[in-house]
Amino acid sequence: MSGLTGLPATEIRRRIAARDVSSEEVTRAHLDRIAAVEPGIDAFLLVAPERALGAARRLDTALAGGAPAPLLAGVPLAVKDVLHVAGLPTSCGSRILEGYRPPFAATAVARLESAGAIVLGKTNMDEFAMGSSTEMSAFKPTRNPWDRERVPGGSSGGSAAAVAARLAPIALGTDTGGSIRQPAAFCGVVGLKPTWGRVSRYGLVAFASSLDQAGPFARTVEDTALVCSVLFGPDPLDATSADEPVPDLAAAIGRGARGLRVGVPWAFLAEGVEAETMARFRESLAALESAGATVLDVPLPHLPHAIAAYYLVATAEASSNLARYDGVRYGRRAPGEHDLKRLYGKTRDLGFGAEVKRRIILGTFALSSGYYDAYYLRAQKVRTLIRRDFDAAFGTCDVIATPTTPTPAFRLGEKTDDPLQMYLADVFTVPANLAGIPGLSLPCGLAHGLPVGVQLLARAFDEATLLRAGAAYQQVTRFHEMAPPS
Ligand code: GLN
Repeated sequence: MSGLTGLPATEIRRRIAARDVSSEEVTRAHLDRIAAVEPGIDAFLLVAPERALGAARRLDTALAGGAPAPLLAGVPLAVKDVLHVAGLPTSCGSRILEGYRPPFAATAVARLESAGAIVLGKTNMDEFAMGSSTEMSAFKPTRNPWDRERVPGGSSGGSAAAVAARLAPIALGTDTGGSIRQPAAFCGVVGLKPTWGRVSRYGLVAFASSLDQAGPFARTVEDTALVCSVLFGPDPLDATSADEPVPDLAAAIGRGARGLRVGVPWAFLAEGVEAETMARFRESLAALESAGATVLDVPLPHLPHAIAAYYLVATAEASSNLARYDGVRYGRRAPGEHDLKRLYGKTRDLGFGAEVKRRIILGTFALSSGYYDAYYLRAQKVRTLIRRDFDAAFGTCDVIATPTTPTPAFRLGEKTDDPLQMYLADVFTVPANLAGIPGLSLPCGLAHGLPVGVQLLARAFDEATLLRAGAAYQQVTRFHEMAPPS
Protein backbone atom coordinates (compact mmCIF):
# COMPACT_ATOMS: atom_id res chain seq x y z
CA MET A 1 0.00 0.00 0.00
CA SER A 2 1.49 3.38 -0.94
CA GLY A 3 1.48 6.00 1.80
CA LEU A 4 -1.38 7.78 0.04
CA THR A 5 -3.97 5.00 -0.14
CA GLY A 6 -4.48 4.51 3.57
CA LEU A 7 -5.16 8.20 4.25
CA PRO A 8 -8.52 9.59 5.25
CA ALA A 9 -10.22 12.12 2.96
CA THR A 10 -9.57 14.99 5.38
CA GLU A 11 -5.82 14.33 5.23
CA ILE A 12 -5.75 13.92 1.44
CA ARG A 13 -7.55 17.20 1.06
CA ARG A 14 -5.19 18.91 3.51
CA ARG A 15 -2.08 17.75 1.66
CA ILE A 16 -3.50 18.70 -1.73
CA ALA A 17 -4.59 22.11 -0.45
CA ALA A 18 -1.06 22.63 0.95
CA ARG A 19 0.34 21.57 -2.47
CA ASP A 20 2.33 18.81 -0.70
CA VAL A 21 1.00 16.30 -3.18
CA SER A 22 -0.91 16.58 -6.46
CA SER A 23 -4.36 15.23 -7.17
CA GLU A 24 -2.81 13.26 -10.02
CA GLU A 25 -0.41 11.51 -7.63
CA VAL A 26 -3.21 10.64 -5.22
CA THR A 27 -5.40 9.38 -8.06
CA ARG A 28 -2.57 7.28 -9.52
CA ALA A 29 -1.81 5.75 -6.13
CA HIS A 30 -5.43 4.61 -5.82
CA LEU A 31 -5.61 3.36 -9.41
CA ASP A 32 -2.39 1.38 -8.82
CA ARG A 33 -3.82 -0.16 -5.69
CA ILE A 34 -7.02 -1.04 -7.55
CA ALA A 35 -4.94 -2.74 -10.26
CA ALA A 36 -3.06 -4.73 -7.61
CA VAL A 37 -5.85 -5.71 -5.20
CA GLU A 38 -9.10 -5.56 -7.13
CA PRO A 39 -8.78 -8.95 -8.86
CA GLY A 40 -9.35 -10.70 -5.50
CA ILE A 41 -12.12 -8.36 -4.32
CA ASP A 42 -14.17 -7.42 -7.41
CA ALA A 43 -15.51 -4.25 -5.83
CA PHE A 44 -15.82 -2.42 -9.16
CA LEU A 45 -17.95 -3.02 -12.24
CA LEU A 46 -16.04 -0.31 -14.08
CA VAL A 47 -12.80 1.54 -13.35
CA ALA A 48 -12.40 4.79 -15.30
CA PRO A 49 -8.68 5.72 -15.11
CA GLU A 50 -8.64 8.21 -18.01
CA ARG A 51 -11.64 10.10 -16.73
CA ALA A 52 -10.22 10.15 -13.20
CA LEU A 53 -6.75 11.31 -14.26
CA GLY A 54 -8.26 13.98 -16.51
CA ALA A 55 -10.28 15.39 -13.62
CA ALA A 56 -7.24 15.22 -11.33
CA ARG A 57 -5.07 17.14 -13.82
CA ARG A 58 -7.73 19.81 -14.25
CA LEU A 59 -7.86 20.23 -10.49
CA ASP A 60 -4.05 20.42 -10.28
CA THR A 61 -4.00 23.09 -12.98
CA ALA A 62 -6.62 25.14 -11.16
CA LEU A 63 -4.74 24.86 -7.87
CA ALA A 64 -1.45 25.76 -9.55
CA GLY A 65 -3.20 28.88 -10.86
CA GLY A 66 -4.00 29.90 -7.28
CA ALA A 67 -7.61 28.67 -7.05
CA PRO A 68 -8.72 27.83 -3.48
CA ALA A 69 -8.95 24.09 -2.74
CA PRO A 70 -12.59 22.97 -2.59
CA LEU A 71 -13.86 20.82 0.32
CA LEU A 72 -13.11 17.47 -1.32
CA ALA A 73 -10.12 18.58 -3.41
CA GLY A 74 -8.59 15.48 -4.97
CA VAL A 75 -10.39 12.96 -2.76
CA PRO A 76 -10.88 9.70 -4.69
CA LEU A 77 -14.47 8.48 -4.75
CA ALA A 78 -16.12 5.19 -5.72
CA VAL A 79 -19.76 5.37 -6.86
CA LYS A 80 -22.35 2.60 -6.63
CA ASP A 81 -23.51 1.75 -10.13
CA VAL A 82 -27.06 2.88 -9.39
CA LEU A 83 -26.10 6.57 -9.50
CA HIS A 84 -25.44 8.29 -12.82
CA VAL A 85 -21.95 9.67 -13.42
CA ALA A 86 -21.53 11.98 -16.42
CA GLY A 87 -19.96 10.11 -19.33
CA LEU A 88 -20.07 6.64 -17.74
CA PRO A 89 -22.61 3.83 -18.23
CA THR A 90 -25.02 2.82 -15.45
CA SER A 91 -25.90 -0.87 -15.18
CA CYS A 92 -27.50 -1.20 -11.72
CA GLY A 93 -25.87 -4.62 -11.66
CA SER A 94 -28.41 -5.74 -14.27
CA ARG A 95 -28.21 -7.19 -17.76
CA ILE A 96 -31.32 -5.22 -18.68
CA LEU A 97 -29.38 -1.94 -18.46
CA GLU A 98 -26.15 -3.28 -19.96
CA GLY A 99 -24.69 -0.60 -22.20
CA TYR A 100 -27.07 2.12 -20.99
CA ARG A 101 -25.49 5.57 -20.89
CA PRO A 102 -27.46 8.13 -18.91
CA PRO A 103 -27.68 11.56 -20.54
CA PHE A 104 -27.32 13.35 -17.19
CA ALA A 105 -25.52 13.00 -13.84
CA ALA A 106 -26.95 12.31 -10.40
CA THR A 107 -27.03 15.42 -8.24
CA ALA A 108 -25.30 13.53 -5.42
CA VAL A 109 -22.36 12.69 -7.69
CA ALA A 110 -22.30 16.11 -9.37
CA ARG A 111 -22.09 17.82 -5.98
CA LEU A 112 -19.15 15.72 -4.85
CA GLU A 113 -17.37 16.21 -8.18
CA SER A 114 -17.87 19.97 -8.07
CA ALA A 115 -16.35 19.92 -4.60
CA GLY A 116 -13.22 18.35 -6.10
CA ALA A 117 -13.83 14.60 -5.55
CA ILE A 118 -12.30 12.34 -8.22
CA VAL A 119 -14.55 9.48 -9.38
CA LEU A 120 -12.48 6.31 -9.80
CA GLY A 121 -15.25 4.10 -11.12
CA LYS A 122 -18.61 2.39 -10.55
CA THR A 123 -19.01 -0.25 -7.87
CA ASN A 124 -20.71 -3.62 -7.90
CA MET A 125 -24.14 -4.10 -6.35
CA ASP A 126 -27.05 -6.48 -6.07
CA GLU A 127 -29.22 -6.10 -9.17
CA PHE A 128 -31.33 -2.94 -8.77
CA ALA A 129 -30.15 -2.79 -5.12
CA MET A 130 -32.22 -5.86 -4.21
CA GLY A 131 -30.19 -7.99 -1.86
CA SER A 132 -27.98 -8.13 1.20
CA SER A 133 -24.82 -9.76 -0.15
CA THR A 134 -23.93 -8.37 -3.63
CA GLU A 135 -24.26 -11.94 -4.91
CA MET A 136 -27.37 -10.85 -6.84
CA SER A 137 -25.25 -8.77 -9.21
CA ALA A 138 -25.78 -10.08 -12.73
CA PHE A 139 -22.03 -9.77 -13.35
CA LYS A 140 -20.05 -11.15 -10.39
CA PRO A 141 -20.04 -11.33 -6.62
CA THR A 142 -17.82 -8.97 -4.58
CA ARG A 143 -15.64 -10.49 -1.86
CA ASN A 144 -15.23 -9.24 1.69
CA PRO A 145 -11.70 -7.83 2.16
CA TRP A 146 -11.60 -9.35 5.66
CA ASP A 147 -12.27 -12.86 4.38
CA ARG A 148 -12.58 -13.43 0.67
CA GLU A 149 -14.81 -16.46 1.14
CA ARG A 150 -17.43 -14.19 2.68
CA VAL A 151 -19.86 -11.62 1.31
CA PRO A 152 -19.26 -7.90 1.78
CA GLY A 153 -22.97 -7.40 2.50
CA GLY A 154 -25.27 -5.60 0.11
CA SER A 155 -26.66 -4.18 -1.86
CA SER A 156 -23.85 -1.55 -1.83
CA GLY A 157 -21.22 -4.26 -1.23
CA GLY A 158 -18.83 -2.96 -3.90
CA SER A 159 -18.65 0.50 -2.32
CA ALA A 160 -18.16 -0.89 1.20
CA ALA A 161 -15.46 -3.33 0.05
CA ALA A 162 -13.68 -0.57 -1.91
CA VAL A 163 -13.44 1.64 1.17
CA ALA A 164 -12.41 -1.24 3.47
CA ALA A 165 -9.71 -2.41 1.03
CA ARG A 166 -8.29 1.14 0.76
CA LEU A 167 -9.23 1.36 -2.92
CA ALA A 168 -10.95 4.68 -2.16
CA PRO A 169 -11.25 6.70 1.07
CA ILE A 170 -14.92 7.47 0.42
CA ALA A 171 -17.74 5.95 -1.61
CA LEU A 172 -21.40 6.52 -2.36
CA GLY A 173 -24.02 3.88 -1.75
CA THR A 174 -27.78 3.76 -1.46
CA ASP A 175 -29.90 2.40 1.35
CA THR A 176 -33.50 1.27 0.87
CA GLY A 177 -33.60 -1.18 3.76
CA GLY A 178 -30.02 -1.26 5.01
CA SER A 179 -27.82 -1.34 1.92
CA ILE A 180 -25.36 1.23 3.27
CA ARG A 181 -25.35 0.25 6.96
CA GLN A 182 -25.28 -3.55 6.59
CA PRO A 183 -22.29 -3.70 4.19
CA ALA A 184 -20.52 -1.01 6.24
CA ALA A 185 -20.86 -3.30 9.28
CA PHE A 186 -19.71 -6.41 7.38
CA CYS A 187 -16.65 -4.59 5.97
CA GLY A 188 -15.64 -2.65 9.10
CA VAL A 189 -16.25 0.87 7.77
CA VAL A 190 -18.57 3.78 8.56
CA GLY A 191 -21.85 4.06 6.64
CA LEU A 192 -24.56 6.69 6.94
CA LYS A 193 -28.12 6.52 5.64
CA PRO A 194 -29.40 10.09 5.75
CA THR A 195 -32.97 11.15 6.51
CA TRP A 196 -35.28 10.49 3.56
CA GLY A 197 -35.26 13.72 1.54
CA ARG A 198 -31.90 14.92 2.87
CA VAL A 199 -29.99 13.92 -0.29
CA SER A 200 -31.34 14.43 -3.79
CA ARG A 201 -32.49 11.25 -5.55
CA TYR A 202 -32.16 12.87 -8.98
CA GLY A 203 -30.11 10.50 -11.13
CA LEU A 204 -30.45 7.63 -8.66
CA VAL A 205 -32.20 4.71 -10.34
CA ALA A 206 -35.35 4.05 -8.32
CA PHE A 207 -35.95 0.80 -6.44
CA ALA A 208 -38.52 1.78 -3.78
CA SER A 209 -38.92 5.54 -3.97
CA SER A 210 -40.36 6.14 -0.51
CA LEU A 211 -37.43 4.29 1.09
CA ASP A 212 -34.38 4.98 -1.14
CA GLN A 213 -31.64 7.33 0.08
CA ALA A 214 -28.07 7.85 -1.10
CA GLY A 215 -25.30 8.28 1.45
CA PRO A 216 -21.59 7.90 2.14
CA PHE A 217 -19.14 5.21 3.19
CA ALA A 218 -15.89 6.32 4.81
CA ARG A 219 -13.33 5.04 7.30
CA THR A 220 -13.71 7.89 9.80
CA VAL A 221 -16.57 9.92 11.19
CA GLU A 222 -14.77 13.15 10.17
CA ASP A 223 -14.73 11.97 6.53
CA THR A 224 -18.39 11.00 6.78
CA ALA A 225 -19.29 14.48 8.08
CA LEU A 226 -17.20 16.11 5.36
CA VAL A 227 -18.98 14.21 2.58
CA CYS A 228 -22.39 14.90 4.12
CA SER A 229 -21.69 18.62 4.30
CA VAL A 230 -21.36 18.59 0.49
CA LEU A 231 -24.08 16.01 -0.20
CA PHE A 232 -26.92 17.33 1.96
CA GLY A 233 -29.41 20.00 0.95
CA PRO A 234 -32.37 20.65 -1.31
CA ASP A 235 -32.19 20.12 -5.07
CA PRO A 236 -34.58 21.84 -7.50
CA LEU A 237 -34.33 18.70 -9.70
CA ASP A 238 -35.86 16.47 -6.98
CA ALA A 239 -39.20 17.73 -5.68
CA THR A 240 -38.97 15.31 -2.74
CA SER A 241 -35.64 16.66 -1.53
CA ALA A 242 -36.26 18.46 1.74
CA ASP A 243 -35.92 22.18 2.14
CA GLU A 244 -34.22 21.82 5.52
CA PRO A 245 -31.19 23.81 6.62
CA VAL A 246 -27.96 21.80 6.83
CA PRO A 247 -26.30 22.30 10.21
CA ASP A 248 -22.56 22.79 10.62
CA LEU A 249 -21.58 19.12 10.74
CA ALA A 250 -17.87 19.78 11.29
CA ALA A 251 -18.78 21.73 14.44
CA ALA A 252 -21.23 19.03 15.58
CA ILE A 253 -18.60 16.32 15.65
CA GLY A 254 -16.45 18.23 18.10
CA ARG A 255 -19.12 18.37 20.80
CA GLY A 256 -18.45 15.05 22.54
CA ALA A 257 -21.03 12.64 23.92
CA ARG A 258 -21.46 14.11 27.39
CA GLY A 259 -25.13 14.18 28.35
CA LEU A 260 -26.25 12.20 25.31
CA ARG A 261 -29.12 9.80 26.07
CA VAL A 262 -28.79 6.48 24.21
CA GLY A 263 -31.94 4.35 24.06
CA VAL A 264 -31.69 0.60 23.51
CA PRO A 265 -34.77 -1.46 22.51
CA TRP A 266 -33.71 -4.44 24.66
CA ALA A 267 -36.94 -6.35 24.19
CA PHE A 268 -36.44 -6.31 20.41
CA LEU A 269 -32.83 -7.51 20.76
CA ALA A 270 -33.69 -10.34 23.13
CA GLU A 271 -33.57 -13.06 20.49
CA GLY A 272 -31.67 -13.74 17.36
CA VAL A 273 -28.42 -11.82 17.85
CA GLU A 274 -25.35 -14.05 17.58
CA ALA A 275 -23.45 -14.15 20.91
CA GLU A 276 -20.18 -12.46 19.93
CA THR A 277 -22.01 -9.82 17.91
CA MET A 278 -24.08 -9.10 21.02
CA ALA A 279 -20.92 -8.94 23.16
CA ARG A 280 -19.39 -6.32 20.81
CA PHE A 281 -22.66 -4.37 20.94
CA ARG A 282 -22.59 -4.31 24.75
CA GLU A 283 -19.00 -3.09 24.61
CA SER A 284 -20.01 -0.30 22.25
CA LEU A 285 -22.60 0.86 24.79
CA ALA A 286 -19.92 0.82 27.49
CA ALA A 287 -17.67 2.90 25.21
CA LEU A 288 -20.43 5.47 24.72
CA GLU A 289 -20.97 5.57 28.47
CA SER A 290 -17.27 6.12 29.05
CA ALA A 291 -17.54 9.10 26.68
CA GLY A 292 -20.23 10.58 28.94
CA ALA A 293 -23.46 9.20 27.45
CA THR A 294 -26.18 7.51 29.48
CA VAL A 295 -27.90 4.34 28.32
CA LEU A 296 -31.59 3.59 28.91
CA ASP A 297 -34.17 1.08 27.74
CA VAL A 298 -36.72 2.19 25.13
CA PRO A 299 -39.78 0.28 23.96
CA LEU A 300 -40.27 0.04 20.20
CA PRO A 301 -43.16 -2.43 20.26
CA HIS A 302 -43.90 -2.58 16.52
CA LEU A 303 -40.35 -3.30 15.34
CA PRO A 304 -40.95 -7.07 15.08
CA HIS A 305 -43.32 -6.29 12.17
CA ALA A 306 -40.83 -4.11 10.27
CA ILE A 307 -39.39 -6.82 8.00
CA ALA A 308 -42.84 -7.95 6.85
CA ALA A 309 -43.99 -4.38 6.22
CA TYR A 310 -40.75 -3.51 4.44
CA TYR A 311 -40.88 -6.45 2.03
CA LEU A 312 -44.44 -5.49 1.04
CA VAL A 313 -43.81 -1.76 0.59
CA ALA A 314 -40.43 -2.27 -1.12
CA THR A 315 -41.68 -4.93 -3.55
CA ALA A 316 -44.85 -2.96 -4.33
CA GLU A 317 -42.87 0.15 -5.20
CA ALA A 318 -40.28 -1.88 -7.10
CA SER A 319 -42.96 -3.53 -9.25
CA SER A 320 -44.15 -0.10 -10.26
CA ASN A 321 -40.69 1.47 -10.75
CA LEU A 322 -39.33 -1.44 -12.77
CA ALA A 323 -42.23 -1.42 -15.24
CA ARG A 324 -40.18 1.05 -17.29
CA TYR A 325 -37.73 -1.68 -18.36
CA ASP A 326 -39.63 -2.99 -21.34
CA GLY A 327 -36.98 -3.27 -24.03
CA VAL A 328 -38.25 -0.11 -25.71
CA ARG A 329 -37.03 2.78 -23.60
CA TYR A 330 -33.73 1.73 -22.03
CA GLY A 331 -30.85 -0.66 -22.40
CA ARG A 332 -31.22 -4.12 -23.84
CA ARG A 333 -33.98 -5.44 -26.08
CA ALA A 334 -34.64 -9.10 -26.67
CA PRO A 335 -33.87 -9.89 -30.31
CA GLY A 336 -36.29 -11.26 -32.88
CA GLU A 337 -39.63 -10.33 -31.26
CA HIS A 338 -42.14 -8.30 -33.27
CA ASP A 339 -45.21 -8.63 -31.09
CA LEU A 340 -45.14 -5.94 -28.33
CA LYS A 341 -46.23 -8.17 -25.44
CA ARG A 342 -43.80 -10.88 -26.42
CA LEU A 343 -41.05 -8.27 -26.73
CA TYR A 344 -41.72 -7.05 -23.16
CA GLY A 345 -41.88 -10.59 -21.84
CA LYS A 346 -38.74 -11.84 -23.50
CA THR A 347 -36.72 -8.70 -22.70
CA ARG A 348 -37.60 -9.04 -19.02
CA ASP A 349 -37.08 -12.76 -19.00
CA LEU A 350 -33.55 -12.37 -20.40
CA GLY A 351 -32.72 -9.08 -18.70
CA PHE A 352 -33.82 -9.56 -15.07
CA GLY A 353 -32.32 -12.00 -12.57
CA ALA A 354 -34.27 -14.30 -10.27
CA GLU A 355 -34.42 -11.96 -7.27
CA VAL A 356 -35.71 -9.02 -9.33
CA LYS A 357 -38.38 -11.22 -10.92
CA ARG A 358 -39.40 -12.49 -7.49
CA ARG A 359 -39.81 -8.93 -6.20
CA ILE A 360 -41.79 -7.76 -9.23
CA ILE A 361 -44.17 -10.70 -8.88
CA LEU A 362 -44.57 -10.24 -5.11
CA GLY A 363 -45.11 -6.50 -5.48
CA THR A 364 -47.60 -6.86 -8.32
CA PHE A 365 -49.54 -9.35 -6.21
CA ALA A 366 -49.52 -7.09 -3.14
CA LEU A 367 -50.94 -4.23 -5.22
CA SER A 368 -53.53 -6.23 -7.14
CA SER A 369 -57.19 -5.51 -6.57
CA GLY A 370 -58.64 -7.65 -3.82
CA TYR A 371 -55.25 -7.95 -2.12
CA TYR A 372 -54.28 -4.29 -1.89
CA ASP A 373 -56.12 -3.73 1.42
CA ALA A 374 -54.87 -6.92 2.99
CA TYR A 375 -51.20 -6.41 2.11
CA TYR A 376 -50.06 -3.04 0.82
CA LEU A 377 -52.47 -0.87 2.81
CA ARG A 378 -51.86 -2.88 5.95
CA ALA A 379 -48.10 -2.58 5.54
CA GLN A 380 -48.49 1.19 5.25
CA LYS A 381 -50.43 1.19 8.52
CA VAL A 382 -47.69 -0.79 10.23
CA ARG A 383 -45.25 1.75 8.85
CA THR A 384 -47.15 4.54 10.59
CA LEU A 385 -47.10 2.61 13.87
CA ILE A 386 -43.33 2.17 13.58
CA ARG A 387 -42.87 5.87 12.92
CA ARG A 388 -44.95 6.63 16.04
CA ASP A 389 -42.84 4.21 18.09
CA PHE A 390 -39.74 6.19 17.12
CA ASP A 391 -41.43 9.53 17.83
CA ALA A 392 -42.30 8.32 21.32
CA ALA A 393 -38.83 6.89 21.94
CA PHE A 394 -37.14 10.12 20.90
CA GLY A 395 -39.13 11.82 23.64
CA THR A 396 -36.83 10.12 26.16
CA CYS A 397 -33.54 9.67 24.26
CA ASP A 398 -31.39 11.40 21.63
CA VAL A 399 -30.16 8.36 19.75
CA ILE A 400 -31.22 4.72 19.59
CA ALA A 401 -28.58 2.00 19.43
CA THR A 402 -28.84 -1.57 18.07
CA PRO A 403 -26.39 -3.97 16.49
CA THR A 404 -26.36 -3.16 12.75
CA THR A 405 -26.80 -6.83 11.88
CA PRO A 406 -27.61 -10.00 13.87
CA THR A 407 -24.40 -11.77 12.69
CA PRO A 408 -21.09 -10.96 11.00
CA ALA A 409 -20.63 -11.53 7.25
CA PHE A 410 -21.87 -14.90 6.04
CA ARG A 411 -20.17 -17.15 3.48
CA LEU A 412 -20.61 -16.68 -0.25
CA GLY A 413 -23.46 -18.96 -1.30
CA GLU A 414 -24.67 -19.52 2.26
CA LYS A 415 -28.03 -17.76 1.82
CA THR A 416 -28.52 -17.57 -1.95
CA ASP A 417 -30.98 -20.47 -1.99
CA ASP A 418 -33.05 -19.11 0.86
CA PRO A 419 -34.37 -15.60 0.16
CA LEU A 420 -36.18 -15.37 3.51
CA GLN A 421 -32.94 -15.99 5.41
CA MET A 422 -31.30 -13.30 3.30
CA TYR A 423 -34.15 -10.87 4.11
CA LEU A 424 -33.61 -11.40 7.84
CA ALA A 425 -30.12 -9.88 7.58
CA ASP A 426 -31.98 -6.53 7.45
CA VAL A 427 -33.97 -6.93 10.66
CA PHE A 428 -32.27 -4.01 12.43
CA THR A 429 -31.85 -1.70 9.45
CA VAL A 430 -35.27 -1.59 7.73
CA PRO A 431 -37.13 0.25 10.54
CA ALA A 432 -35.16 3.46 9.82
CA ASN A 433 -36.17 3.40 6.15
CA LEU A 434 -39.82 2.79 7.02
CA ALA A 435 -39.73 5.74 9.44
CA GLY A 436 -37.58 7.93 7.18
CA ILE A 437 -35.05 8.62 9.95
CA PRO A 438 -31.23 8.68 9.64
CA GLY A 439 -29.00 5.76 10.64
CA LEU A 440 -25.25 5.45 11.13
CA SER A 441 -23.27 2.21 11.31
CA LEU A 442 -19.90 2.31 13.08
CA PRO A 443 -17.39 -0.54 13.40
CA CYS A 444 -17.56 -2.04 16.90
CA GLY A 445 -14.83 -4.65 16.79
CA LEU A 446 -14.53 -8.22 15.56
CA ALA A 447 -16.81 -11.19 16.12
CA HIS A 448 -15.19 -14.49 15.06
CA GLY A 449 -12.45 -12.42 13.42
CA LEU A 450 -14.96 -10.49 11.28
CA PRO A 451 -16.11 -6.89 11.67
CA VAL A 452 -19.53 -6.09 13.15
CA GLY A 453 -21.23 -2.74 13.56
CA VAL A 454 -23.24 -0.72 16.02
CA GLN A 455 -26.13 1.21 14.50
CA LEU A 456 -27.22 4.59 15.84
CA LEU A 457 -30.56 6.12 14.83
CA ALA A 458 -31.78 9.68 15.39
CA ARG A 459 -34.75 11.96 14.77
CA ALA A 460 -35.42 13.01 11.17
CA PHE A 461 -32.84 15.58 9.99
CA ASP A 462 -30.73 15.11 13.10
CA GLU A 463 -27.68 13.56 11.40
CA ALA A 464 -25.61 16.07 13.41
CA THR A 465 -26.33 14.17 16.63
CA LEU A 466 -25.45 10.84 14.97
CA LEU A 467 -22.12 12.22 13.79
CA ARG A 468 -21.47 13.80 17.16
CA ALA A 469 -22.06 10.49 18.95
CA GLY A 470 -20.03 8.69 16.28
CA ALA A 471 -17.05 11.01 16.64
CA ALA A 472 -17.01 10.58 20.42
CA TYR A 473 -17.27 6.82 19.96
CA GLN A 474 -14.40 6.81 17.46
CA GLN A 475 -12.25 8.79 19.86
CA VAL A 476 -12.76 6.23 22.65
CA THR A 477 -12.49 3.06 20.55
CA ARG A 478 -10.13 4.16 17.74
CA PHE A 479 -12.03 1.80 15.44
CA HIS A 480 -10.63 3.59 12.39
CA GLU A 481 -7.22 2.05 13.08
CA MET A 482 -8.65 -1.40 12.40
CA ALA A 483 -7.82 -2.66 8.88
CA PRO A 484 -8.37 -5.89 6.98
CA PRO A 485 -5.31 -8.02 6.17
CA SER A 486 -3.91 -6.47 2.98
N1 GLN B 1 -31.46 -5.97 1.59
C1 GLN B 1 -32.64 -5.17 1.44
C2 GLN B 1 -33.40 -5.63 0.23
O1 GLN B 1 -33.00 -6.56 -0.34
C3 GLN B 1 -32.27 -3.73 1.35
C4 GLN B 1 -31.73 -3.36 0.05
C5 GLN B 1 -31.37 -1.92 -0.02
O2 GLN B 1 -31.27 -1.24 1.00
N2 GLN B 1 -31.20 -1.45 -1.23
O3 GLN B 1 -34.38 -5.07 -0.14
